[in-house]
Amino acid sequence: MIPYGMQDITEEDIASVISVLKSSFLTQGPAVPMFEQAVASYCQAQYSLATNSATSALHLACLALDIGPGDIVWTSPVTFVASANSALYCGAKVDFVDIDPISYNISVEALENKLITAKKSGCLPKAIIAVHLSGQSCDMMAIGALANRYGVRVIEDASHAIGGRYLNEPIGRCTYSDITIFSFHPVKIITTGEGGMATTQDEKLYSRMKLLRSHGISRDDGEMEFPVDGGWYYEQQALGFNYRLTDFQAALGLSQLSRLDDYVLARHQLARRYNEALDHLPIKLPNQNEASYSSFHLYIIRLELNAINKTHKEVFEQLRAAGIGVNLHYIPIYRHPYYRQFKYEYSDFPNSESYYSEAISIPIYPMLSNDNFNKVVSALENILKK
Ligand SMILES: *Cc1c(COP(=O)(O)O)cnc(C)c1O
Repeated sequence: MIPYGMQDITEEDIASVISVLKSSFLTQGPAVPMFEQAVASYCQAQYSLATNSATSALHLACLALDIGPGDIVWTSPVTFVASANSALYCGAKVDFVDIDPISYNISVEALENKLITAKKSGCLPKAIIAVHLSGQSCDMMAIGALANRYGVRVIEDASHAIGGRYLNEPIGRCTYSDITIFSFHPVKIITTGEGGMATTQDEKLYSRMKLLRSHGISRDDGEMEFPVDGGWYYEQQALGFNYRLTDFQAALGLSQLSRLDDYVLARHQLARRYNEALDHLPIKLPNQNEASYSSFHLYIIRLELNAINKTHKEVFEQLRAAGIGVNLHYIPIYRHPYYRQFKYEYSDFPNSESYYSEAISIPIYPMLSNDNFNKVVSALENILKK
């Protein structure tokens, strides 16, 4: 099976992990801050905080923004469940804003309408989690402007999007948001095995996330709330977690980061080749908007079912049977059994529903061979031919 995504691990990556394994620090050594600094500098962000997953980073971001019981957080329904779960972890409620039919990111028009209604009924969200689906940035300028107008905080879930750009700035710079988070899961753009990162320009948000990443414990004499008893002294000042990344993972991340731009370039080249090879088929190809440079984590096609003599499910299964590891990103979150208790109406999200009935992610990753690329194209041609 040709997977939809796949990591690339080089000899240099392996050597850098081994060198940490041979050193005295497996965790909380020098590699984590080096990796953090490298990502911060890549993203032109003041601060960055490595975590053991993007899910943890999302949780910390919500906590740093003081999201808790009584608050509401909005996100896109077409995303991985972690984007929404992070708000539930904090005791907040989650609601969804329908997607844009072209970019598949949160619709600015739907967002504005929902904000107008929410303001009237006094139930504005505390934060919006904007997800850059497939690595293409949301319309952050518009989202940031709306957030300012309505006093709403913004988190960018850029799990797909490291290496991408928006209006010529790196994603992660937080020009229109409070915090951006990245994932380093193996299918994402660069990997640490498991791992994540939060970037921000706000020192307070950074300090809060940093405290909560490690049990809520501070060891900084200047930050103690009580008198320092002695050299052993530290304080737990909040109820935090153990969300730390290990040093050997950070070493892998640092080594991978040096190839980030090449990876994104290779993904663009594959996307361009797909665009040409698939243009004649009854499918909608991914739209690229002018303002953004996608990291092309995913290559999502949509079936034009009117022009195809098969169902979405049949096409999907025939592709799998042909050895193509296609996937669907994502089942709208409100459709999951756990989310049924919150009683969302499918009909409130017509664009997400229509997306879900037609979308398929086909394999895209830098090491996808020519042979496998051609297999994907001919499988699609065979299965979709009239
Ligand atoms: C992968 C992913 C996450 C979670 O990332 P982990 O590092 O696996 O916790 C969150 N949001 C989106 C959009 C993702 O794709």
